[in-house]
Amino acid sequence: MSERKRILTGIRPTGALHLGHYAGALENWLDLQDSYDCNFLIADYQVSDYADDIKHVRESVWDVALDWLAVGLNPETSNFVIESLVPEHTELTTWLSWFLPLGLLQRNPTLKTEMDGFGKKSVPLAFFTYPVMQVANILMPRAHLVPVGEDQLPHIEMTREIARRFNRQFGDIFPEPDGLVGRVPRLVGIDGQAKMSKSLNNAIYLSDDEDTVTEKVRQMYTDPTRIRATDPGHVEGNPVFMYHDAFNQDIEEITDLKERYLVGKVGDVEVKQKLAKALNTLLEPIRIKRAHFEQNHELVREALEIGTLRAQKQAQDTMELVRDALGLDYLKKN
Ligand code: AMP
Repeated sequence: MSERKRILTGIRPTGALHLGHYAGALENWLDLQDSYDCNFLIADYQVSDYADDIKHVRESVWDVALDWLAVGLNPETSNFVIESLVPEHTELTTWLSWFLPLGLLQRNPTLKTEMDGFGKKSVPLAFFTYPVMQVANILMPRAHLVPVGEDQLPHIEMTREIARRFNRQFGDIFPEPDGLVGRVPRLVGIDGQAKMSKSLNNAIYLSDDEDTVTEKVRQMYTDPTRIRATDPGHVEGNPVFMYHDAFNQDIEEITDLKERYLVGKVGDVEVKQKLAKALNTLLEPIRIKRAHFEQNHELVREALEIGTLRAQKQAQDTMELVRDALGLDYLKKN
């Protein structure tokens, strides 16, 4: 292994990636990819609609890889890894599950929210094992840093706790990783809901074309108390301005729009048109790169293959340490 510190971070293959992924995760990854050994994981074991729609999971693996390449992640220096193709993940999950008290899972606020999301549907057993799988994902490359969205921080805390427990008993094998939250810890949806997410159908995708982005912005939730353009409006908590702050590079334009909005001197139409323009400026180079890789499918496949192969080797090395530490050499000749 090289001397550089290691990163593990991941995304579940639930579809193409959106602006929430960009601001909450990918942008951070891009900044870090040249100074760390990075493992970018496509967590296909951890998709809750697996049983319902395996075809969609398969397609999404490609969508995620395409989006990664399109934003500029570099598969030559970083590993693009398909989780299920590294079987050691399941082995480590099994061992680590002995170190995770159920109480820790039950107190995890992200899991509580996700659990509520099942509503009346039955909860699969995998829902209780996926957090351990996430811990195994992070500990497998013995990562030091885990860039994540805000909602994932409780999982990092759990990882640190499990690493501590394991190390205490079996020797220093796993670094206790730090979480690193992106510039926008949680991007709201275009409908004003707390989080942009595919399942809430409130996302702008990195692969949306110009007209789609403009139309989605036109329909965005804004200040509901404002009826006429001459009414003073609210900037604070207004999703349109949150997006300006997150994605518009033209700070003077944002300041001017905010000043005029507060005193009723600009209409929502203009504020939204300027936002759509800023978003399309950000997304255009990503679309062009995505189109290039869509036409060169083999490049995407190779990116996934070399990354996964390197991760397999890394996983074998870690599991050798773990098996040694656990004393699993039952059949060793004396
Ligand atoms: P997921 O799609 O849930 O697997 O998320 C992958 C990564 O993107 C995680 O670190 C999430 O926290 C982050 N992420 C997803 N949606 C958002 C959002 N709306 N705002 C900020 N970060 C997000």
